[in-house]
Amino acid sequence: MSTTYNGVPSLKVHDKQTTTGLVYQLASQAGPISRIELAELAHLAPASITKISRQLIACGLLHEVNAQQSTGGRRPINLQTRTDNHQIVAVRIGRTTLHTGLCDLSGSVLASREVPLNASNGEQLVARITDEISTLLAQHKDPDKDLMAIAMTSPGLVNTLAGIVHYLPHINLAEPLALTEQISKVFHVPSYLGNNIRALALAEHYFGCAKDCQDVIVVRLHNGIGAGIIIDGAVLLGQAQNRGEIGHIQVNPLGERCHCGNFGCLETIASNKAIVQRVQQLFESGYSTSLNPDNLTVSTVCDAANQGDELAIRVLTDVAENLAKALATTINLLNPQEIVIGGHITEAWGVIKPVLEATLQRQTMASFIKDLPIEASKIERHSLLAPFALIRRALNKGHLLQYMIDQIHGQPTP
Ligand SMILES: [Zn+2]
Repeated sequence: MSTTYNGVPSLKVHDKQTTTGLVYQLASQAGPISRIELAELAHLAPASITKISRQLIACGLLHEVNAQQSTGGRRPINLQTRTDNHQIVAVRIGRTTLHTGLCDLSGSVLASREVPLNASNGEQLVARITDEISTLLAQHKDPDKDLMAIAMTSPGLVNTLAGIVHYLPHINLAEPLALTEQISKVFHVPSYLGNNIRALALAEHYFGCAKDCQDVIVVRLHNGIGAGIIIDGAVLLGQAQNRGEIGHIQVNPLGERCHCGNFGCLETIASNKAIVQRVQQLFESGYSTSLNPDNLTVSTVCDAANQGDELAIRVLTDVAENLAKALATTINLLNPQEIVIGGHITEAWGVIKPVLEATLQRQTMASFIKDLPIEASKIERHSLLAPFALIRRALNKGHLLQYMIDQIHGQPTP
């Protein structure tokens, strides 16, 4: 029987993985917890819990702890997840930088490195990632702890299930890049791949302000603009593995030409580059501002807006109105429970949020916008949480647990 950890497993393996993942997930959420309580929560027979917990203890992922002393009798034993026995590597491929981090299973970053990307084709990209991971491991990995897995996030179009990068905005790929296969071959552990923004949405769902919220839209405005859509607790990917290109929704039919070929896409107004260019244009047209035109970034524009600079407020108001137009379309389609916005513009959240809310009130179904929280991301800057979220998903879904259990029994390699 073949077991695939990234691909579609056979039904039997899938059931086993799912059940193991469920037990691990419940133990990590509700632990310390007794085996009986776990059986009740998971709707499984106590014998199944005994077998799965024995396997997870053997892998070093669960341990037994003494429960509170009850009145007399034997001291009950509880189960708790262990986050310190294994280490993982999280990799964030940016447009200009490569960020790697060594983490434990709680997501705490034990050591990290950030270097210029310096790659102009797929082969160089794989070599750079391999070098950086090797250096990180050589300098910081605890020799007494196992490297469990590697997770990578990338801009552009990726196939998460197959671990393949199809398109990068900054690197010319002659052919689709089988990234997880190549990285797993070098480091002999399972590896996972996701799109930056879709993985960020997952991180918001696991650890951020949308924690445990089942239907969320996360929009990140940076060099490009993308959305990660969580529906029923899972990232919406689809057959093409990429959904949420909110940056290419047209908000101004008479607007600037976008790199996608269309005119007036949201990205032509609300990307970092577009914001800085708009401020520059207005400054050159003679608008007065406290901003120094030689030192324009979205952060300096936000600072000026927070200080009451009229030009900065005017530009950010226009950005927020157009962002709200694109958001209104997605809210009317998907009726989410929460909206999370990430990116430098959130540094002027006091300016942005009221405009977003007012525009959404006008353009969205009344019952959809009523009580809909619109939050600024608090974890977006902790960019390694996005790749780490892929590891958390692989644990919760059981793929990674099954791999470790099979390793102990001398079965398949990744
Ligand atoms: Zn476009």
